Amino acid sequence: MTDQYIECRRCGRELKDKRSREMGYGPSCIKKVGSEREGELETVDLLEKEMKK
Ligand SMILES: [Zn+2]
Repeated sequence: MTDQYIECRRCGRELKDKRSREMGYGPSCIKKVGSEREGELETVDLLEKEMKK
């Protein structure tokens, strides 16, 4: 089971992307959160690749 977020946990914007919902952050916020928390950088990289499709 995966927790799904409807709104960004950082700015409260609606999350429309499936991965963003799983992460709980929008694409711009995930970068900021990722840079603040180094452990999530790999996940950010995956997210960006996914969005370029
Ligand atoms: Zn946000």
